[in-house]
Amino acid sequence: MTKVIRIDRYNPEIELIDYAAEVIKKGGLVAFPTETVYGIGANSFDEEAVKRIFIAKGRPQDNPLILHIASIDQVYDLTVEFPEKAKKLVQKFWPGPLTIVLKKSSKVPYINTAGMDTVAIRMPSNSIAHLLIKRAGVPISAPSANVSGRPSPTDASHVIEDLYGKVDVIIDGGKCDVGLESTVVDLTDEIPVILRPGAVTLNMLQEVLGEVRLDPFLLKKPDMDIKPKSPGMKYKHYSPRAEVYIVKGPLDKVVKKIKQLAKNQLKIGKKVGIMATVQTSTQYEEGEVIVVGDREKPESIAKNLFEVLREFDRREVDVVFAESFDYDEIGLAIMNRLEKAAGYKEIEAEGS
Ligand code: AMP
Ligand code: MG
Repeated sequence: MTKVIRIDRYNPEIELIDYAAEVIKKGGLVAFPTETVYGIGANSFDEEAVKRIFIAKGRPQDNPLILHIASIDQVYDLTVEFPEKAKKLVQKFWPGPLTIVLKKSSKVPYINTAGMDTVAIRMPSNSIAHLLIKRAGVPISAPSANVSGRPSPTDASHVIEDLYGKVDVIIDGGKCDVGLESTVVDLTDEIPVILRPGAVTLNMLQEVLGEVRLDPFLLKKPDMDIKPKSPGMKYKHYSPRAEVYIVKGPLDKVVKKIKQLAKNQLKIGKKVGIMATVQTSTQYEEGEVIVVGDREKPESIAKNLFEVLREFDRREVDVVFAESFDYDEIGLAIMNRLEKAAGYKEIEAEGS
């Protein structure tokens, strides 16, 4: 049975943390909050426990996990090399929403890395996550605590929805701050490559390292015949049950186009969802209109995106029309997740 424990992240009760840490040590599964999204965690060194993560989520075995740590020393334990560039990055961005990929040591069981010789490592800043890892005394392997393919969980209620009965403990620590998964940067080659965009942006990384590249797969529809460097990127992701379409173009044209698309769908009896923003929501007269955030504060859009996708499911809409965002700064991460949720279905508003 699953035990749900409420912990105050501003004043975490250590006896509750220790209860969960004990479950990890004994080979159990604990879902816990981080600043990005909720994770489903197990002792990284316990192969059987890590295997259970894949089963609980229905995650394909070729999609590797991120190992979460609480002190920089642990990087030496998990890798054969801690390059200068990696040190610079973690000094600046840890604890926080940045994952680094390095060459793995023999101590890391291959179940974590999907058989690869590289390992993804992150030090989260959320106080509950930090204490849980520290008190467990081992790195914790933790992918997002959703059923594979569903939007990532940014609140304990989402974890309960997806994983109740499949994990030993769910820690309820409130809503996640960032709301999108960590930036993943590969540091195993000469030039660092962003494999997954997140709140630590390309510009922020370039400021510290100079040249940093974006993985060419990032904004393309995945091709099943090509093996991307980050295996997780080829899977359909973050999807609500409704069909999602992103409407692109100048904002006024986008609003006009969405209104017209919504009208047509309503006419044929479909339930329509509209993902709007503070700047546009009052212009929509029909359909289930949900405000994802404020265009002036893109962090608010990141924070609410997955929750809004789940809310459309709760309202049982058939089709969602989503406004689009600029691909710069955190917008790159927002659009990357939105495009996956939409299965790359886009409608051009230009000229309408
Ligand atoms: P999740 O924890 O569900 O957010 O997914 C973890 C992400 O990190 C996936 O996209 C993985 O493909 C990526 N990842 C984990 N380990 C590695 C690795 N060794 N090399 C490249 N990408 C990785
Ligand atoms: Mg995930």
